[in-house]
Amino acid sequence: MSEGILVICESADGKVKKTALELLGKANDLSKVLGGSVSALLVGDGDAEGLGAYGATKVFQVSGDARNVALLTRAAQKAIEEASPSVVLGGASALGRDVFARLSARLKAGLGAEITEMRVEEGTLVAIRPQFSGKVFSEVKISTEHKLFTVRPGSFAMPAKGDARAEVVQLSVVEEDSDTRLTIVEVIQSEAEVVDLTEADRIVSGGRSVKSKEKFDALIRPLAQALGATAGASRAAVDAHYAEHSEQVGQTGKVVSPALYIACGISGAIQHLAGMNTSRVIVSINKDVNAPIFKHSTYGIVADMFEVVPVLTKALNGGEIPVVNMSKAEVTATSPAATASQKSAEVVVEATKSPVKGSVTEAKKPVKKMSLKERLAAKRAASKSESAKPTEVQKSVSKVSKPVKSSPPTPSSVQQSSAAPVAGTVISVDVEGLRAEVAELKQLVHSLQGAIASSEKNLTADLKKYVKSTEDALKKDFQRGEKNARSFQEGATKNIEGIERSVTSEVRRIREKTREAMANEGAESRAAIFSLKGSASASIVLNILTLIVLIGMWMTTC
Ligand SMILES: Cc1cc2nc3c(=O)[nH]c(=O)nc-3n(C[C@H](O)[C@H](O)[C@H](O)COP(=O)(O)OP(=O)(O)OC[C@H]3O[C@@H](n4cnc5c(N)ncnc54)[C@H](O)[C@@H]3O)c2cc1C
Repeated sequence: MSEGILVICESADGKVKKTALELLGKANDLSKVLGGSVSALLVGDGDAEGLGAYGATKVFQVSGDARNVALLTRAAQKAIEEASPSVVLGGASALGRDVFARLSARLKAGLGAEITEMRVEEGTLVAIRPQFSGKVFSEVKISTEHKLFTVRPGSFAMPAKGDARAEVVQLSVVEEDSDTRLTIVEVIQSEAEVVDLTEADRIVSGGRSVKSKEKFDALIRPLAQALGATAGASRAAVDAHYAEHSEQVGQTGKVVSPALYIACGISGAIQHLAGMNTSRVIVSINKDVNAPIFKHSTYGIVADMFEVVPVLTKALNGGEIPVVNMSKAEVTATSPAATASQKSAEVVVEATKSPVKGSVTEAKKPVKKMSLKERLAAKRAASKSESAKPTEVQKSVSKVSKPVKSSPPTPSSVQQSSAAPVAGTVISVDVEGLRAEVAELKQLVHSLQGAIASSEKNLTADLKKYVKSTEDALKKDFQRGEKNARSFQEGATKNIEGIERSVTSEVRRIREKTREAMANEGAESRAAIFSLKGSASASIVLNILTLIVLIGMWMTTC
């Protein structure tokens, strides 16, 4: 029966990739529950024994080119035959995806791809796989003898390095004809890529709005460099040739899961999110408060990146971040280069990348303590003056929105993500000043509450007055309307009565006339009828006489 976990370790130029070490750490945790030991496969000349420091008890080593897919697959097959592991883990890199798909087909073994989490539930290994750009998380349980998983880089924490050494077993692999179909002719290392994106712990990405390659190089890359991060880009930026294709993050680019992902001027299209949504801390800088990326960000900065990014870069490179701190009565200057304008009473907190290079020292000369009112007035005056650089920064900083990501970063992620940018940040805190500030603010709040209450009272009185006067005006209008309607009605009634009267008398007159006419008509008709009757009887008599004459004539002839 198969038991234990085998980790397929990727390496390049003899150096084992970070993801492989993360997987060894996780394999160790899992093996404590699942049982069995942790073994590893290493192709090439890397330090196989040294993998013991990360939890591998046995390392199978195969000589050859670690980037050769065919060789790596054969080597993995051989190592699986030797170790008969229940679980085989590898990175979800381009190479890992290729090798594991082949292994799955050859061994008829179930494969869980692009895994981001693994746990043991009632003795069964359950892997979590994000789907639909991280909108759905499915549980993957595999029932075949060998269970294969590719895991997204950065999903698991780096294990602490121990001092154990692993047993190394050299394996020889027989390549078949089909394996030689593919040969690596040359490997050209991307100039831009400092650390492989999928391996990077921190990534700074730029989008279409960076506007040109020159600006990408002047804005995004320096921030990445200052953070010890790798530069990434959206597809829109890559298509516009601001960045290289190897730097594209997303569905058709690289899928990354760093501890810190800074998205500059990236809208957060679903295809981009598919590549970076599982990053532990996401910081987005976007002008548009409604940009979709903010819904997926741990921190959002609504601002122009052309203003914010240079300030961040400068600060991370040991420059100064002027932040408004109205309680501070002293100027804290870190570097000799502190300018006169930065010595204003408002510029007090400074960040340096390394405390050694630019340590914080308190300025000797105390600045006169101002009241809150005075400071507010000074701030207003300062913001009016054009040269007030702190104001510009203050705007950027004050626009940082609240964290919106639902799951807060784990302590380890916080450690990883925050360590670099703020390592060495020294902030001088004036506790007494802060207390005075709080007291002053409390007083201000109290007086504001009083002002609000009295304006509320005035407002209520005004409102009542307004309602009353409106009511009166409406009443008057109504009465006037009613009067008008009544007089109109009276006038109309009178008119109608007059019309009715005249119509009635007219009807009566017409009736009389008609009757009269009819009477005349009747007499004339009767006379006509009588005359008609007379003429009719005369013609009948005449006709009878004619008939008698005719009959007499007929009888005489007969
Ligand atoms: C099949 C397919 C696959 C794809 N694969 C990928 C992929 O792998 N990766 C990928 O990224 N995309 C991919 N896309 C493209 C994707 O749909 C988006 O078009 C792309 O991600 C947009 O890039 P963008 O955010 O840089 O640009 P836009 O969507 O144009 O967004 C620019 C953003 O910058 C902001 N902005 C403008 N000026 C400033 C400023 N001065 N300061 C701060 N913010 C500013 C704007 O408010 C806006 O939100 C794919 C698309 C398809 C159809």
